[in-house]
Amino acid sequence: MGVILEKFPKAAKALPGGSVALTTADAFIGWSRKYSLWPVQFGLACCAIEMMAAYAARFDFDRMGVIPRASPRQADVMLIAGTVVKKMAEPVIRLYHQMPEPRFVVSMGSCANCGGPYYDSYSVVKGVDRLIPVDVYIAGCPPRPESLLYAVVKLQEKILKMKLAKGAGATPQQETGARNINA
Ligand code: SF4
Repeated sequence: MGVILEKFPKAAKALPGGSVALTTADAFIGWSRKYSLWPVQFGLACCAIEMMAAYAARFDFDRMGVIPRASPRQADVMLIAGTVVKKMAEPVIRLYHQMPEPRFVVSMGSCANCGGPYYDSYSVVKGVDRLIPVDVYIAGCPPRPESLLYAVVKLQEKILKMKLAKGAGATPQQETGARNINA
C-alpha cells in the first residue's frame, strides 16, 4: 500500500487504517494500458533498424512495457517503421484490423508520415494515415531510437486521457473517410 500511495498519489487514496486503495476505473485501466503497450512485430524499411535498436540493450524498450508480439491479435500498438509501398497497403490494413481494440498506431519517420524522400514515387503511399488512423507521428529520416521512446511517452499520455464514459474505451481517433492510396 505504501508503494501504491507513493507512486500514484492522485489515483490512490488511503482510508483510515491504510488497507484500502480507491481509484477510478479509468485511472486503473489507463495505468495498466500505459505500461503494457505491446507492438505487433514488423518493420517496413530502414526506420525499422532504429526501431530494433530501441528494443536492444542500450535503449531497452522492455523497461517501459513495450514488448513486441509476433501476432497482431496480442498487440496493442502498431509501429509503422519505414516506407509504406502500395503493395504493402493491404497487409498493413489487414494487420491493423486483426489487432484488438483499443489499438494505437505510431508513424515513425518521414516515409510513414508523408512518403518522405519517395514522395513523388508511383509506388509509395503518401502517408500511412491514408490507410489507418495514426495517434503519434515521429519526424526525421531516420528518427533516432530516443524519438521512438519519446513517441511512446506521448502515447502513454494520450492513453491516460482516455475515458470509458466517453466511448474512448476504443481507439481515440476514429477512422473516417474513404481510403485513397493512389492520391
Ligand atoms: S524515413 Fe528515411 S530512414 Fe525511415 S524508411 Fe524512410 S528513407 Fe528510410
